[in-house]
Amino acid sequence: MTAGARDPVPPGATIGILGGGQLGRMMAIAARAMGYKIRALDPDPACAIRPLVEDLVAAPFDDPAAAVRLAQRCAVLTIETERVSRYSLEQCAGRVPVRPNANLLSIVQDRARQKRWLDRQGYPLGPWRFAPSFDPLRAAAAAFGFDCYIKACRGGYDGRAQARVCRESELAPAWEALGPQACVVEQALDLEAELSVLAARRPSGEMVAYPPALNRHEDGILSWSVIPAPLPSGIAREARALTHDIAEALGLEGLLVVEMFVDKRGRLLVNELAPRPHNSYHASEQACATSQFEQAIRAICDLPLGRAEVVQPTAIANLLGDLWRDGTAPPFEKALKLSGVRLHLYDKHPPRPSRKMGHLSATAETPEQAIEKVLEGMQQLQWHRARR
Ligand code: ATP
Ligand code: MG
Repeated sequence: MTAGARDPVPPGATIGILGGGQLGRMMAIAARAMGYKIRALDPDPACAIRPLVEDLVAAPFDDPAAAVRLAQRCAVLTIETERVSRYSLEQCAGRVPVRPNANLLSIVQDRARQKRWLDRQGYPLGPWRFAPSFDPLRAAAAAFGFDCYIKACRGGYDGRAQARVCRESELAPAWEALGPQACVVEQALDLEAELSVLAARRPSGEMVAYPPALNRHEDGILSWSVIPAPLPSGIAREARALTHDIAEALGLEGLLVVEMFVDKRGRLLVNELAPRPHNSYHASEQACATSQFEQAIRAICDLPLGRAEVVQPTAIANLLGDLWRDGTAPPFEKALKLSGVRLHLYDKHPPRPSRKMGHLSATAETPEQAIEKVLEGMQQLQWHRARR
């Protein structure tokens, strides 16, 4: 059964997801709750979405023929990672609605292309330069006083494929470690806060933008996040309006998260775009009237969107593989004793350092209390406490 470009995809139909990580898994859980069936593609036959799908095409993300095999058995196709090749989406587009489309994916999946697009549209970015080889990289880093981030144009996530450079001597080793490959160089900004905004837009044009999330990163990986962001209402309004505009300018179909920085001068700057569910909106499951995963399904199926407002402040903290010892899980029961704390695991194996295995969430009266509560939950999971 294939939906036409303008028809809603009704419950009972099959949704195809390119990518089988935790984001796909949580979309699949929401989709199944609404009566949809799921098929997916991922290189790893034992990926996190596996238990939730009718079948899994085990193939690389740059195999268009495999993507077409998936598309032939689905009513609509979406992505849960930007690592899917644009050619796969182009090949599928003639057969099934692909949301988001190949053009949007190609803009966001290359950091330089994404920044050029944002610059051209007049959106605020921190100082940056494109560096296809070492000489321009050196010139850019020098212009930023060798206090910068160098980021591979393609393939990075969770702080991978990028390096923080603080002095000249660190530049050449960082460049070698990255490939070498084409990079962007960003001036290191003195940050006041990091936030993100989720927008959902359906093909008919209906759009909602969520209240912002406040995010804390450690070593380039999201550590915790809270909705709503306890920030001045002017910044929150500006961030929401900016995200709305970007989603409209991209002709979004599906979800878009805009990651943003607030610098010490109070300026709002775009960090990067993600056209899919996002780690910083996992709290939307408890915080918002409609979770990001349900909203993704509504948007790609062209169903009426759900409301985005906050129903209760909620924070999440990521559970990385570092919390496991020799494959043994931390003592979750200690965290779950705290009132308002919940556990979500992604069924990923094995638990490697820095690998996102799940998250804790905590609801409370205020965002600040929700952060405190979720961090208290995380304290309970520390190994030295577990052995007591
Ligand atoms: P993710 O997958 O978590 O979105 P990523 O690998 O795409 O991460 P970025 O979002 O580019 O990487 O950077 C990760 C984090 O590193 C940022 O959230 C921020 O904390 C820090 N960071 C990145 N670039 C800068 C910068 N120019 N100035 C200051 N901090 C930065
Ligand atoms: Mg990021």
